[in-house]
Amino acid sequence: MSENKARNFIEEIVEHDIESGLVKNVITRFPPEPNGYLHIGHAKSICLNFGTALNYGGKCNLRYDDTNPVKEDEEYIRSIERDVRWLGFEPAAVLYGSDYFEYMFECALKLIDKGLAYVCDLSADEIREYRGTLTEPGKDSPYRNRSAEENRRLFLEMRDGIYSDGEKVLRAKIDMASPNLNMRDPVLYRILHAPHHRTGGKWCIYPMYDFAHPLEDAYEKVTHSICTLEFEDHRPLYDWVVQNCGCDPAPRQYEFARLNLTRTIMSKRYLKKLVDEKFVSGWDDPRMPTISGLRRRGYTPEAIRDFCERIGVAKSNSEVDAGLLEHCLREHLGQIAPRRMAVLDPLKVIIDNYEGDGETVLSENLPKSETAGMRNMSFSREIYIERSDFMEDPPAKFFRLAPGREVRLKDAYIIQCEAVEKNPDGTVAALHCTYDPDSKTGGATAGRKVKGTLHWVDAKTAVPCEIRLYDFLLNEGEGDFSARLNEQSLKILPNALIEAAGASAKPGDRFQFLRQGYFCADTDSTPEKLIFNLIVNLKDSYAKANND
Ligand code: ATP
Ligand code: MG
Repeated sequence: MSENKARNFIEEIVEHDIESGLVKNVITRFPPEPNGYLHIGHAKSICLNFGTALNYGGKCNLRYDDTNPVKEDEEYIRSIERDVRWLGFEPAAVLYGSDYFEYMFECALKLIDKGLAYVCDLSADEIREYRGTLTEPGKDSPYRNRSAEENRRLFLEMRDGIYSDGEKVLRAKIDMASPNLNMRDPVLYRILHAPHHRTGGKWCIYPMYDFAHPLEDAYEKVTHSICTLEFEDHRPLYDWVVQNCGCDPAPRQYEFARLNLTRTIMSKRYLKKLVDEKFVSGWDDPRMPTISGLRRRGYTPEAIRDFCERIGVAKSNSEVDAGLLEHCLREHLGQIAPRRMAVLDPLKVIIDNYEGDGETVLSENLPKSETAGMRNMSFSREIYIERSDFMEDPPAKFFRLAPGREVRLKDAYIIQCEAVEKNPDGTVAALHCTYDPDSKTGGATAGRKVKGTLHWVDAKTAVPCEIRLYDFLLNEGEGDFSARLNEQSLKILPNALIEAAGASAKPGDRFQFLRQGYFCADTDSTPEKLIFNLIVNLKDSYAKANND
């Protein structure tokens, strides 16, 4: 790890463990439950787990925490792997918690034989009732003192399918008066007659998260099991399982604050609801904060990693301004996204004194780049400008086009508006202009200053495209997500035009459309029907507010 970088508290722990000889090879894991697509919050965990392993020459596994058969799905598994790799990380191994069911079962038998686990016949409601509260101790289950032999027999019968769902559970025998509710004889195994996506009908008992997770870590010899803060209270149970199952070396759990972003939903359950209720087009809808949504929108892995680096790793929860993520994105796109001109809401301009068939002008692909070069743009008598760049009766401070006023067309000529052609309904149909033939680069009046510079496309060669503008899924404010859904989060502009060089855009190609923002060709875009997603606009209010 480089000397001049500030360490986060996880890195400090890891370094201490290495220096003290406690840990030789750092092993971490990213353990998603395959019950949905990964979101930007998971990216933080991925960067932390993979990043820590990379920094210390260790390894990080991708492990599916697939011990709950009901909500899991192959589709999710495929998407998770793709997302992790897209973010730029290669798992040392791709593993499944369900592959260790036999090992977990053996560990449970070990606990039973040691008198540390028992089969309990109380119902879920009764168990809750017996558990007590933060201020009152719990009550012992009447089944707590079954002999090890009886517990073993009953547990094997549970496995063999003798009992129905909920009839019995296996519980740890710890302390019904513990101040930590998680330690009041937690359930280790439950009966669930449900097929599992990998083990099929082999098991009808499934381990609970608090039992399975430490054992999965131990099985893989994970040294640092990094999870989010809500598991802090579970750590004593984690350690209890590891210790009493004789796991050696013992993995250790460390907790960090989960990422919360303003105006962003980060719960898989709720994201799934948006998909199921068709508020969005799918998990990869470009408005979704899922990794696949961000990818389709046009985010870059570099920007997401940069963001995760900048937010750091803390031990207390907070909410990060979504503007920071956009800021990181703009910074990266500014360096890599070739410039193009596109007119989102076209208004025709006829240059009456322009003679001839047209010509080419040169436009820079990327400012300050020595390699990206220039491209040709065609220019001719009829062009399109943005409708919002014209006002018939403008205020004094309007520096764009208006009757009698001049503007420069970027990389081409200065034009002046002479007349306005109207539709029968009174809206503007087209503008008649004249141009200054010497005002192009290299011309006698090239240096002539006019206040506004507009983007434009040539009517002869521009290509139609659809533009999809996005806004946050949630309105500002607090409270229930359903009440905050932004009905205006998608706006489709069906009649946009892009300069000819944009016609070859392939899905995933990113551009800056001058003066408009960053755009990405959508997965559904074809040469016959070009579709561009707004990735992010150009205005960086975050940088302004934070003096960045
Ligand atoms: P959700 O509540 O969104 O469903 P989860 O925690 O149930 O998320 P898992 O699949 O269990 O999702 O998460 C895999 C890993 O990612 C866990 O280690 C979890 O702590 C971490 N993680 C999930 N959400 C966030 C977040 N918002 N910020 C940081 N890490 C997260
Ligand atoms: Mg979870």
